[in-house]
Amino acid sequence: MSPISTKRHGDVLIVTSNNPPVNALGHAVRTGLVAAIAEADKDDAVKAVVIIGQGQTFFAGADITEFGKSMQLPMLPEVVDIIENCTKPVVSAIHGTALGGGLEVALASHYRVAVPSAKLGVPEVKLGLLPGAGGTQRLPRVAGVPKALEMAATGTPITAKEAHEIGLVDRLIEGDLEQHAVAFAEEVKDIRPLPRSSERDEKIAPYRAHRAIFNDFKLANARKFYGFEAPSANIRAIEYAVDLPYAEGVMHERRLFMELATGVQSRAQQYFFFAERKAAKIEGLPEGTQPRDIKRVGVIGAGTMGGGISMNFLSAGIPVTIVEMAQDALDRGTGVMRKNYEASAAKGRMTAEQVDGAMGLLTPTLNLDDLADCDLIIEAVFENMDVKKEIFGKLDQIAKPGAILASNTSYLNVDEIAASTSRPQDVVGLHFFSPANVMKLLEVVRGAKTAPDVLVTAMQLAKRIRKVAVVAGVCHGFIGNRMLMPRQIEATKLLLEGATPEQIDKVHTKFGMPMGPFQMADLAGVDIGWHRDPARIENIRDALCAAGRWGQKKGAGFYDYDEKRKKSPSPVVAGIIEDFRSKEGIEPREISEDEIVERTLYTMVNEGAKILEEGMAQRASDIDVVWVYGYGWPVYRGGPMFWADTEGLDKIVAGLERRGFEVARLLADKAAAGETLSR
Ligand code: NAD
Repeated sequence: MSPISTKRHGDVLIVTSNNPPVNALGHAVRTGLVAAIAEADKDDAVKAVVIIGQGQTFFAGADITEFGKSMQLPMLPEVVDIIENCTKPVVSAIHGTALGGGLEVALASHYRVAVPSAKLGVPEVKLGLLPGAGGTQRLPRVAGVPKALEMAATGTPITAKEAHEIGLVDRLIEGDLEQHAVAFAEEVKDIRPLPRSSERDEKIAPYRAHRAIFNDFKLANARKFYGFEAPSANIRAIEYAVDLPYAEGVMHERRLFMELATGVQSRAQQYFFFAERKAAKIEGLPEGTQPRDIKRVGVIGAGTMGGGISMNFLSAGIPVTIVEMAQDALDRGTGVMRKNYEASAAKGRMTAEQVDGAMGLLTPTLNLDDLADCDLIIEAVFENMDVKKEIFGKLDQIAKPGAILASNTSYLNVDEIAASTSRPQDVVGLHFFSPANVMKLLEVVRGAKTAPDVLVTAMQLAKRIRKVAVVAGVCHGFIGNRMLMPRQIEATKLLLEGATPEQIDKVHTKFGMPMGPFQMADLAGVDIGWHRDPARIENIRDALCAAGRWGQKKGAGFYDYDEKRKKSPSPVVAGIIEDFRSKEGIEPREISEDEIVERTLYTMVNEGAKILEEGMAQRASDIDVVWVYGYGWPVYRGGPMFWADTEGLDKIVAGLERRGFEVARLLADKAAAGETLSR
């Protein structure tokens, strides 16, 4: 049965799409729409058409199951043209979300009405694409050039209210959408000529003489768009809309769409879209495992991580009890949390009431016994096994039966921590990334004895606090930090051999990382893991720490920082590096960009392959999710595993061998067999 059905209300033909869950514009929907428009055209008794979605939304976009396959006709560009060329006025009645192809259907309609809660957008850019069914040509004609640029190049949807203000929505509807949409259709049924979006000119005409808008927009977003191909293609397509007649503009849109669709970036971004969804699935759990109920969370430690972790739960409306050792540390920690919330409020992201509401859910205490009523307790104290074991031993006495006991440890063995309790099945690692209230990644560390329902709870909870969770096995540094290690070791060796911190960092930022290894060290703290003995100087890091260069927090690390935290190369650091070179008898040499890539990026791929081989990650795509969400790996390169495939595994293996690294067996095997890592 077709997902598209038609019915009459007086002389209005109501075309209803029923393709749950999101009315995706799959083949059957497209065919049904074409047939419905033909029905309207043919029948003299029909004076107007309303297109509406059944269920939770209007068309929320393309059918993702058709991605990467050859699409069956009719394709969307043809369908939207048929809608626009209908001889009777077509009204799109929007609720939920009109996204991507959904908005293109609405744009091809002659009128758009929407409920105030609806959202409208063209998020194709997030998949490395552009709205390729006339969207880039119709949107500026209807919504105006500035809004079209913003919507298409960033992919961020707008509210129906805003859409109404700019003329993208003709009327906001309170009450029954279908009923009011039909009434609207009755009002406009005799108006001719039909307002066809592709024929409109009044909103684009002024920009033919006002070209600066395009460059200004690019400049204003330069940082956000850096490295991505799709935003500039979206902008270019809108420039064509302004400069050329519709029929020509749409041909350029098609050409740009094909260029993007056949490029590596869109493949990477679509791969990543599915990778993120796959990450939520845990292999090997008994069917139907139910999560435990989490009503109250306990957090131990109100330092850098404890505060941020708590904020996630408070923001989601989950009460938190936070424990510290001393009153001043507790006050400092909760003070930082409030300040962070207030900063969000100052940026308009929260109201003052929401700040008070979130902070009102927080119970600060110095007494561990107060955690007795918590369903989940997350430990975020110093990274020290003895301290952690002592705390888990105490928690074993305090926590109620069935409470989940989690550690935010970065490197320590979760099984060893679990063994300090009588209930290792309730223990799990919940590794948040700094700043914990911002970073989207959560590594869920599965201990040898972690119970299935604890894992299911962790994954579900991650969603509640808007994190993307990835399951990792117990190994040093889990997935993310473990892969960071070879990168850091090689980066430091390269310094000794002749490279500078700036040179190495530059290779990484040019690659698309938000920062290089040394910028990252300065941000996180050069002193992390330092033995704290200024007299014991065994490596460059020790020397920096001994000199008080602990990173950004001290205004000096691998770089010097000014009051605005702007970095500059440090002559002191150059001197320290020089001292080490002469002490070790190393003659500095010219280091090439290729060598930096091979030694700091190929080695990460190699470690990723070992992680897979050992079963410490469930799948290659999980590793990619960790790197994109935990460390800002550029999504247009898919993640380290996907990137390795695009580089060619042969090339990676050859590079590793040339530099004298032992190649992971899995990587060598896949390369030899001509296979890929990520698929
Ligand atoms: P931190 O030093 O900023 O905070 C630790 C806090 O725990 C301090 O305020 C301390 O007073 C408190 N504390 C120590 N022992 C306690 C006890 N017995 N009872 C109550 N409070 C106690 O450290 P952090 O950076 O927040 O790191 C905490 C944990 O998170 C570590 O295991 C670390 O490896 C991990 N982690 C850190 C980062 C990061 O980037 N900082 C990222 C991920 C994970």
